[in-house]
Amino acid sequence: MGAPIRKRASEIAIDVQTRWQKSMQLNYGTPNLQLEHGKGLEVWDINGKKYLDFLGGIATNIMGHNNTKVVKAILDQSKKLSHVSNFYAHAPGMELAEQLIQMTGVDSARVFFCNSGAEANEAALKLSRLTGRTGVVAAKGAFHGRTMGALSLTGQPSKRNPFKPLLRKIKHVDFGDTKALKRSVSRRTAMVILEPIMGEAGVVVPPSGYLKAAREICDAKGALLVIDAVQTGMGRTGSWFGYEDEGITPDVITIAKGIGGGLPLGAMIAIGKSAQLMQPGMHGTTFGGNPISCSAALAVIDQIRSGNHLQLNKVKGALIRNLISPIVGVKEVRGKGLLIGIVLQSNQAKTVSEKLQKLGFLTNPASDNVIRIAPAFIVSEAQIMKFVAAFNDVCEEVFHG
Ligand SMILES: *Cc1c(COP(=O)(O)O)cnc(C)c1O
Repeated sequence: MGAPIRKRASEIAIDVQTRWQKSMQLNYGTPNLQLEHGKGLEVWDINGKKYLDFLGGIATNIMGHNNTKVVKAILDQSKKLSHVSNFYAHAPGMELAEQLIQMTGVDSARVFFCNSGAEANEAALKLSRLTGRTGVVAAKGAFHGRTMGALSLTGQPSKRNPFKPLLRKIKHVDFGDTKALKRSVSRRTAMVILEPIMGEAGVVVPPSGYLKAAREICDAKGALLVIDAVQTGMGRTGSWFGYEDEGITPDVITIAKGIGGGLPLGAMIAIGKSAQLMQPGMHGTTFGGNPISCSAALAVIDQIRSGNHLQLNKVKGALIRNLISPIVGVKEVRGKGLLIGIVLQSNQAKTVSEKLQKLGFLTNPASDNVIRIAPAFIVSEAQIMKFVAAFNDVCEEVFHG
């Protein structure tokens, strides 16, 4: 027998794509990379090539891959109880709810757990109906999820159009435009939903004072203010949810992505009167607030606190912004903390992201001219320096070559 034939990386990539296409639907593009394992910010593909993950599972694996304490929490809890249904209380769920309430700073906050961002926003939408009103105001370009209710809130025509008709009475206004918001909110408006920074839209930051104005507009008309903190949340921007700098208290906060440290978990947190709207039997989900996901979340929160990551995320974010801004081909660096959109001078985001991947860095072209990065909070200064050097090399090639 001869030696086994070793395949080249490019051949293996083609095998992966063929296998994917023979088993998966077409809703995602075909990936050109199959990841195998990770540790911290590092991930390895099936050829043993190493990457620094600057996307973090889209703002999700906030303590990095294979985090020792998160893994231990998951293992320990799965040896006790994996699932009990919501007929029974369990400690990880209640402890996590108490932690989230503490983060809001308002004792009247109450938590509903679910499994994803879309579900958290669905819950908020249903909650808003209990005010007796049906109107909703959301932002153009906003992303709130893919289920029919969440998609109705989402302000991106390309994602909405194939699925019309969606829910009626949902109005989309220009993000950051206080006057447009004021014109659209009436006494028939049940809720206004806004992201503190629009993530999927390409990390779009509103003018300061926007959320504060939104709070005032909602108060004047008696509408709920829902903050979708699914992407900005869990400390990524330097505060727990991303709206705190505006000095407001929302009526509802939705979170998901980062909270489970990589496990599926979401929550809809209602504050004050809105926390009393749901009545027994009105809403629910089988897996929401599952003990294993909640245990993972507690291990994540514990490390965010003990590692001083809220403060550090601001410092690291500023470092990345300062180093990337002067690079040739970069028009602007947007965002806050570790949610960053690098705006390029032309529509080369896909090319730049692909070249970065070849050099061993994972990023995301959020739009034609914006590269999004949302690394785990444990990203080190040395890893940031490596990323900046690679980004510089790629831009030299793309914009000078
Ligand atoms: C990702 C995202 C969602 C949807 O979350 P899923 O878990 O994918 O359903 C909702 N809102 C925002 C702001 C998001 O970034």
